[in-house]
Amino acid sequence: MLINKIELIVLLKSILFLLSLIAFSLLSQRSPKNIDTNYVYDLPIAPGKKSMVMQGYNGSYSHQGQFALDFKAKKGTPVHAAREGIVYKTESSNVKGGPKKKFLRLGNHIVIKHSDGTFAAYWHLLYEGVFVKVGDAITKGQLIGLSGNTGYSSWPHLHFDVYYFSNGKQVTIPTKFVTNKGVKELKVYRKYGNPKVDQIIEETIQLPKNIDKIEYHFQDASVPPLHHRSYSWIITETQLRFTANSYGTILKDTTIAISAIKWEQCKTAFLNCGIKNQKNIETNQGCTGGTSITIQTWLNGKENFSGTASKCGGKTVGNLSGNTEKFLSVIKEGVDPLVYQTN
Ligand SMILES: [Zn+2]
Repeated sequence: MLINKIELIVLLKSILFLLSLIAFSLLSQRSPKNIDTNYVYDLPIAPGKKSMVMQGYNGSYSHQGQFALDFKAKKGTPVHAAREGIVYKTESSNVKGGPKKKFLRLGNHIVIKHSDGTFAAYWHLLYEGVFVKVGDAITKGQLIGLSGNTGYSSWPHLHFDVYYFSNGKQVTIPTKFVTNKGVKELKVYRKYGNPKVDQIIEETIQLPKNIDKIEYHFQDASVPPLHHRSYSWIITETQLRFTANSYGTILKDTTIAISAIKWEQCKTAFLNCGIKNQKNIETNQGCTGGTSITIQTWLNGKENFSGTASKCGGKTVGNLSGNTEKFLSVIKEGVDPLVYQTN
């Protein structure tokens, strides 16, 4: 016999997959479920970034009979929504992962339901690396989480597939993406870039685990000097220190103990609010007066993030972007308002 048993099985599996391909194309032509098979997805990575497909459709490692894709991604790589929709399911409490089936149920993930009834699944996300919750409306390209290596996974990567339910079973479908090489279905071992351009050319996002201190400074110099106010929130794993001063006079300096949960919330909010640093931009473009916000993070006494945004004559300038107001509201959340009372 020229063909041994294993080769025969592989051959049969390939034939089965081909048959399912044919069946799918016949089905999708009739499109009984109004599934938009021509939808063009964004790559689930940040604008301007590239990634290699490590396993493609019907991959022999874990994608047999599936239209699924594995993108190579270091732990902590930002994951962006490939298509708009409503968050259907999330899990981010798992820590473990490995190349064993026993890890199958331990993968952190996000599932987003699309308007045509299909679902996109993003798997193997980082512990606490999910920034969205069930019911959230997600826009295409939105930062939704961070990739990791949780669940049935032998290397850090992002698993992506789109499926619909047929008699309670998930049926995956092929997906086309807009890439730097045009609109394509992706092939294994090829690198594809997300051609979308973010306004932020170079950005740094800090991983929550790489921070042991966050500083938030607000300065109001828009009023006459005597009424200038500066507020600082300095948060560590155990404490929150609030200071207020007016033109050099200390109005308040209070330190309170915080819980581990509060610290986690502040760290997550840093990412959740998209706090980013735009490099190569002057922080202070001759702005006097106005208000400014500086956010810094630290690890072991070394600063590893710093950004400043100033509001000056109705314009915001500086190298800090993201929802700084939301970030501050999370910092303030659950803290006795008396702590912030200055008179
Ligand atoms: Zn996969």
